[in-house]
Amino acid sequence: MRFERHKVLVRTKQKSNKTQRWVIKAGSNMVCSGGPLLIRAWMHQVAALKKDHRIEVIWVTSGAIASAIDRTQFNKPKRELAEKQALSAIGQPLVMDLYNLSLQTVGLLGAQVLLTSDDIADKKRRGNLQNTLEQLLEWNVTPILNENDTVATEEIKFGDNDALSAKVAKVMKADRLIILTDVEGLYESDPRQNPNARLIPWLSSVSKTQLKEVGDQSGKRGGTSRGTGGMFSKLSAAQVATTAGIETWLVKGDLPAVLLDVAKDKTVGTRIMGRR
Ligand code: GLU
Repeated sequence: MRFERHKVLVRTKQKSNKTQRWVIKAGSNMVCSGGPLLIRAWMHQVAALKKDHRIEVIWVTSGAIASAIDRTQFNKPKRELAEKQALSAIGQPLVMDLYNLSLQTVGLLGAQVLLTSDDIADKKRRGNLQNTLEQLLEWNVTPILNENDTVATEEIKFGDNDALSAKVAKVMKADRLIILTDVEGLYESDPRQNPNARLIPWLSSVSKTQLKEVGDQSGKRGGTSRGTGGMFSKLSAAQVATTAGIETWLVKGDLPAVLLDVAKDKTVGTRIMGRR
């Protein structure tokens, strides 16, 4: 794969005295395999981002369906769409419990926001969403978003909230979108097939050709047994966000202090600069 590499021109520290806004997205596999300990580590970092780096966070999580499967021993190999929706209704409060308990340990409060891409497309509902999120952030409450799977199925069918997180980042004028995944970042070729594949640390943007190459390589319907998002959906989300000028990072979610490393602009995962 031919990804154009650029010299890392370290940007002048972004808006050093202004609060920055990040949207951070955690996928089903990360949430379920990492469990309470990983969520606790993330929420500790969310508190530190605010306190030490003036970064406020809108968190987008998946994992409702996968948590319900783990809890109920639902073991049909093929799940119908309505079954997934019902599982998500069972799993959503379980996932929120994990976030709330972890936030409590750092003196913070979480708020559940369930939404669909139709809510974002509709001007009035989009305005309501913006107002709610702005109010929560003003109160220093951490919004925890997920697709409302009982009424929408887009992210269940494909994407594991990758697309949703990019749309939210645009609507909320985020400075960065951070996608937490179970691989180190974007590789020059598929690391499952080529153990010598090199990680791409830096990209200026995501081109149509790159997207096509990743789709051909890893399959457009990538993902794990737990969630529907693969590298193609992550890179598509990155393209949407970076085209809107939102720098996007694809990073391994269970690296210790990964969010703080991103805040310090350390070389971690794949950083996609986007248009300014
Ligand atoms: N919103 C879903 C969840 O929280 C998406 C998971 C999927 O990709 O199936 O479980």
